[in-house]
Amino acid sequence: MAEMEKTYEEALLRGMGDELRLLSKQEIPDYLETPLYHGGLLNKRNMHLHSVNLCIGEVRAAEMQGALIFVHSAVVEICDGDLPVVRTEHGSITAYSVLLAGNAYHKLARNKLSGMLFPASLGNCATVKLSADVAKAINPHDVAVYDSRFVLDYYRMTADNRLMFGGGTNYSGRDSKDLSAELRPAIERTFPRLKGVDIEFEWTGMAGIVVNRIPQLGKVSPNVFYCQGYSGHGLATSHIMGEIMSKAIIGQLTEFDLFAGMKHIRIPMNEWLGNQAMALGMTYYRMMEHFR
Ligand SMILES: Cc1cc2nc3c(=O)[nH]c(=O)nc-3n(C[C@H](O)[C@H](O)[C@H](O)COP(=O)(O)OP(=O)(O)OC[C@H]3O[C@@H](n4cnc5c(N)ncnc54)[C@H](O)[C@@H]3O)c2cc1C
Repeated sequence: MAEMEKTYEEALLRGMGDELRLLSKQEIPDYLETPLYHGGLLNKRNMHLHSVNLCIGEVRAAEMQGALIFVHSAVVEICDGDLPVVRTEHGSITAYSVLLAGNAYHKLARNKLSGMLFPASLGNCATVKLSADVAKAINPHDVAVYDSRFVLDYYRMTADNRLMFGGGTNYSGRDSKDLSAELRPAIERTFPRLKGVDIEFEWTGMAGIVVNRIPQLGKVSPNVFYCQGYSGHGLATSHIMGEIMSKAIIGQLTEFDLFAGMKHIRIPMNEWLGNQAMALGMTYYRMMEHFR
């Protein structure tokens, strides 16, 4: 709570007093039916959204501006040159500029990018549809929640009254074997009323984690840019970075240079060893939180 109070004080100084409110332990039941929290910080400025719909909307907006989007055509190689050539299995494109923004999913430009980004598997699940009464009881104001631990749980309700819950990130670089089984205890700890609730959907994806949590951007060659590493918080950040990269490509470099100048730790080991080191670090933080 002391940390949260500090955040709140800082927000007040930035003129966000109307949008944030500290909640005491006694006020938590007005917002969530959970025994877990010692208090909270309610933020009315932030929002939660359907990320796939955001993606679909952005695809439509880009296409209306003339963008061509090719799915199922993984880039296998980028050849440097005055005009870089991007190769896929069946074709190639010669470009003025290339932006490499493939998160932790690719092995391109290893000479510049290896050891900078580590893949963590993030998992989400969604329960079966809950009755309107149950949904209202556990989360009456439909707030999106994340807790303040280093390895955090986060959740919200969907439009059709499911609880969508994520947490317990797997930093080994591999997907979890049984995600629902991993998340269920956390769901039941958070909302005892949901003990035994069926989980209907689960999914995972990779997040590129950066040791100091600052997004990485730069150039791998004069006309090939990269931008990556939102450490699991990319929904908002990737849009800010997108704007910075679009300016950089047309030569407006002020913000690009600021980020490109940040010092990043490069772990000089292969990816497997890097992931083991990161998993060990995360276990350390988990233990520290346990004993706090
Ligand atoms: C389960 C889960 C829950 C999450 N929850 C949140 C959340 O609540 N809030 C939040 O802010 N963030 C969240 N994130 C993180 C967020 O999704 C990422 O930080 C963000 O999507 C990263 O953006 P990106 O553009 O770097 O990469 P991505 O969105 O991963 O996009 C990279 C793209 O590059 C493509 N690609 C990769 N390699 C190649 C190749 N060789 N050729 C062609 N294309 C390639 C991929 O197919 C993909 O489409 C979550 C992630 C997961 C997996």
